[in-house]
Amino acid sequence: MHDVAIIGGGLAGLALSIELSRKGHDVVLIEKHRYPFHKVCGEYISKESEAYLKWLGADLEKLGAKRIHQFRLTHYLGSEVRSALPLGGIGISRFTLDATLAEEAKRGGVAVMDGTRVNGTKENALETTAGSIEAKLIIGAHGKRSNIDKTLNRPFIEAKAKGRDHFVGVKYHLKTDLPDDLIELHVFPDGYAGISAVEDGRYCLCYLTKAHHLEQNGAIQAMEKQVLGKNPALASYLDRFPSLYERPEAIAQINFQNKEKGRDNIFFAGDAAGLIAPLSGNGMSMALHSAHLLSKEIDLLLHQKQTKEATLNHYDAAWHKAFGHRFKSARFLQEVFFRPTAMNWLMKTANFFPPLKHRIIKQTHGEAFFEG
Ligand SMILES: Cc1cc2nc3c(=O)[nH]c(=O)nc-3n(C[C@H](O)[C@H](O)[C@H](O)COP(=O)(O)OP(=O)(O)OC[C@H]3O[C@@H](n4cnc5c(N)ncnc54)[C@H](O)[C@@H]3O)c2cc1C
Repeated sequence: MHDVAIIGGGLAGLALSIELSRKGHDVVLIEKHRYPFHKVCGEYISKESEAYLKWLGADLEKLGAKRIHQFRLTHYLGSEVRSALPLGGIGISRFTLDATLAEEAKRGGVAVMDGTRVNGTKENALETTAGSIEAKLIIGAHGKRSNIDKTLNRPFIEAKAKGRDHFVGVKYHLKTDLPDDLIELHVFPDGYAGISAVEDGRYCLCYLTKAHHLEQNGAIQAMEKQVLGKNPALASYLDRFPSLYERPEAIAQINFQNKEKGRDNIFFAGDAAGLIAPLSGNGMSMALHSAHLLSKEIDLLLHQKQTKEATLNHYDAAWHKAFGHRFKSARFLQEVFFRPTAMNWLMKTANFFPPLKHRIIKQTHGEAFFEG
């Protein structure tokens, strides 16, 4: 029997697996895709995670990540804001980052089972496409939405998604002539797109919009022309910059409701514990930080220094302390992004009053959480 079985090898699952195995625990990690693989994500990671990623074994400099210090925001109604990014961020593809951490996990003794899907959980076992796996504890690091949430009847899956909470996300890489230290956000009706550089001369274009636009237009390209194309900056990029993917990556049924942090024998980390609005550029850092918080508590539990109940209570409290405020700010800001008149007004005001710009940017980013 393993000490811990982790469902999902994204940033949260990989970070947890590395931390727990370095603490001497026997860990198995199950990921349904084979590394390396692409994933819907804007691939802009806030700087607060850099030291932690280095400790985990991903040296962003060596991986060719881009330093991002400038920000540009455009609105389809005509306003535009530019700003320096005081905290800064880093552009790195998930294709490279996740695979690097998976290699590091394997090197450290984690049993990484990629290409294996978890179909269900029992108290001390996972049912997978490679058979049953037993573990003392289970961690759900399976991302925003997974078959696991359904098998566990998690309330956010059951809750009927209200129209305004129902989103699709699309991502692909482009070749562009944009500066590589700049992240741009472009607001279009019912959505926004981010574009920024990653390694190897590539740029990541990723957007979030309401599901009904895809339903009405029938296909991604048609939706881009009809809906994203209403923002002139985006329209020109979609015309000029060739995609480097045969097909975009896409996910549906994204919602931003609150989620429980654990129950019975299972604890949740990363997006499985709560998904922040993507415009914050902060989900990856939150996934890593939540893994760091949970690994401390799981270590105490496995050493029988605290009960399961105390583990969950401590983790839940630490999670809310670290992210509660940021989570609400990002959700509020996202609501404003979806109100054209309010957003256009906010952008115009921010241009006349620069401290407002800096305050909004600061609200969504966190402080470094790892000192080695
Ligand atoms: C449109 C959009 C843009 C975003 N842009 C940014 C950005 O620019 N910057 C940023 O910081 N954050 C961004 N985010 C958020 C960020 O992508 C996530 O917060 C982050 O990936 C969470 O990591 P995770 O490890 O929790 O989940 P994931 O990275 O989603 O990993 C979960 C893993 O679990 C696996 N899995 C699921 N079910 C099973 C199963 N049954 N069996 C086995 N494996 C399973 C999946 O294959 C997946 O690899 C964005 C999100 C969206 C939707």
